[in-house]
Amino acid sequence: MPVYKAPLEDISFVLNDVLNAEQLSKLPGFEDATPDLISSVLEEAAKLCENVLQPLNRSGHEEGCHYENGVVRTPKGFKEAYETYREGGWQGLAFDPDYGGQGLPHTVGFVLEELMCSSNMAFAMYPGLTHGAMNAIRAHASDELKAQYLPKMVSSEWSGTMCLTEPHCGTDLGLMKTKAVPSDDGSYRITGTKIFISAGEHDLTSNIIHLVLAKLPDAPPGIKGISLFLVPKFLPNENNEPGVRNGVMCGSIEHKMGIMANATCVMNFDDAKGWLVGEPHKGMRAMFTMMNSARLGVGMQGLGVAAVAYQNAVAYAKDRIQGRSLSGVKAPDKAADPIIVHPDVRKNLMQAKAFTEGARALGYWVGMMIDLVEKHPDPVVRQEADDFVALLTPVVKAYFTDMGYEVATNSQQMYGGHGYIREWGMEQFVRDARIAMIYEGANGIQALDLVGRKLPQNLGRLLRRFFHPMQAELEQSQENPALLEFVIPVAKAFGKLQQATAVVAQKGMARPDEAGAASTDYLRIFGLVAVGWMWLKMVKVAQAKLAEGADGKESFYDAKIKTARFFVEKMLPEVDFRFKSLMSGAKSMMEMDADQF
Ligand SMILES: Cc1cc2nc3c(=O)[nH]c(=O)nc-3n(C[C@H](O)[C@H](O)[C@H](O)COP(=O)(O)OP(=O)(O)OC[C@H]3O[C@@H](n4cnc5c(N)ncnc54)[C@H](O)[C@@H]3O)c2cc1C
Repeated sequence: MPVYKAPLEDISFVLNDVLNAEQLSKLPGFEDATPDLISSVLEEAAKLCENVLQPLNRSGHEEGCHYENGVVRTPKGFKEAYETYREGGWQGLAFDPDYGGQGLPHTVGFVLEELMCSSNMAFAMYPGLTHGAMNAIRAHASDELKAQYLPKMVSSEWSGTMCLTEPHCGTDLGLMKTKAVPSDDGSYRITGTKIFISAGEHDLTSNIIHLVLAKLPDAPPGIKGISLFLVPKFLPNENNEPGVRNGVMCGSIEHKMGIMANATCVMNFDDAKGWLVGEPHKGMRAMFTMMNSARLGVGMQGLGVAAVAYQNAVAYAKDRIQGRSLSGVKAPDKAADPIIVHPDVRKNLMQAKAFTEGARALGYWVGMMIDLVEKHPDPVVRQEADDFVALLTPVVKAYFTDMGYEVATNSQQMYGGHGYIREWGMEQFVRDARIAMIYEGANGIQALDLVGRKLPQNLGRLLRRFFHPMQAELEQSQENPALLEFVIPVAKAFGKLQQATAVVAQKGMARPDEAGAASTDYLRIFGLVAVGWMWLKMVKVAQAKLAEGADGKESFYDAKIKTARFFVEKMLPEVDFRFKSLMSGAKSMMEMDADQF
């Protein structure tokens, strides 16, 4: 059975030593969010995840959800766990106090997200979808809708969904058929079928609030003609309690590869009553608020699964004895050495460690930027932070989830045949991690978003938010000889990223297929460089701490430096390969006729 221990020491290192999260408490509204308070909140979060959610992960996977006549039952123990989650007020952790939230920084919310996804990704999706819906309602709905729905969602009494996908349209939402017809009372009647709706129906909450994309009768064709509607499962009565059943029913649930304990539903809307969120035909804008939040959340799923898979692989590699070390016996008292002595096993463990810890720093940093966007008094800083988040969102989503899957499968590999056997639990991590590469915009679409939308936006302004501070940090770090073994490879990789950016911009202008063909390689280069930057930051802190005396944590800081070395020597060279592939252009992908395949 897999185990999980929240990596609080590592989290504290990133938050307090690398990112200086103390600065958050200087922002208006976050005065209480001191490092001490954040640390005690995270200790409680760790207890929830280790003691309540993680023990249900395997059983939830084995049992799955049950569907009968439109009703969905979650696996045994989920209702009680959700109740514990609700009582703890976790849903409102980083949400506006005006609606009952605790108003803590989003950075803390990002940590919670990681811990929940490590301990039970399928469970985490129920509150995760609610969180995205809350954000969209807060940003775009009328004051009346906000007052009616948000407090119930913030308290976890009601949950939320996002309903975009239809049988014939996933990526291309312009093909949408679901219709919304205005009623005389200002509401709308929604009719259509949505598929693959996560948490569309379940028994955890007394009401479910669907955010549904649909087309008004006068909608212009394509993506520009989509509007967003709030459609509750039960229409609230005069006491704002679930009243009459609305015309929305779950038609079935999917039998799928992973996240078995999260219901993936076909949702039939049949003249269901709903309310417009935001302006008519501007639904994609409103839905993007939800999707951006969800994309970052999905990135944290990749990180969360990688972190728990890694933890278990390390424990197994220290325990499992097979063969002898190539450099001589390491455990003479045993019949064989533990497999952690073998270089190939080490390679997988180091890759998992280097990705997980580097991505953790990057993910939390993006979380901090969201806090600046919301709270910083200076509009220039807010704009800069917003640009940074927009640029990094596709990178976090796609790079983290591609790597989450890679780490999960490499960690499964560490178990040999036992990794393939269900009871060891490693196959679940592989299964769960796989979906994160697909939903919330498949990773190929994230790469197109980065190359096609984020790079050219405001004449490259978003890019400068990343390039300029990174350049400055590299220049400043070059002056320290102890850092050179890290600075040089990171600077080289950064140079390749800059070159790739110029090539993509230049070629893409003339021939869009060239930009499309380059996009996945480009995003990967971006992810590697961004995590390389994080490792540079972490090495600096670790070296400084060791120089100061390290206070009994010599091994911890030393491990950081060793892991950074692995990252720059073994993982960062992928940039060269990706760059070469990118430079070869689109021809070899595109020259074949479709009927030659
Ligand atoms: C378990 C699960 C949970 C989900 N939860 C939700 C949910 O809660 N709400 C919701 O609305 N949806 C949900 N989805 C749907 C999910 O977001 C879609 O499956 C996804 O967006 C892809 O759409 P599609 O399946 O129609 O694939 P398609 O759009 O048909 O795409 C097929 C492939 O072609 C690629 N492709 C398509 N167009 C392009 C292009 N222009 N350029 C490059 N590549 C392209 C895609 O990347 C993909 O690899 C869920 C799906 C699953 C399986």
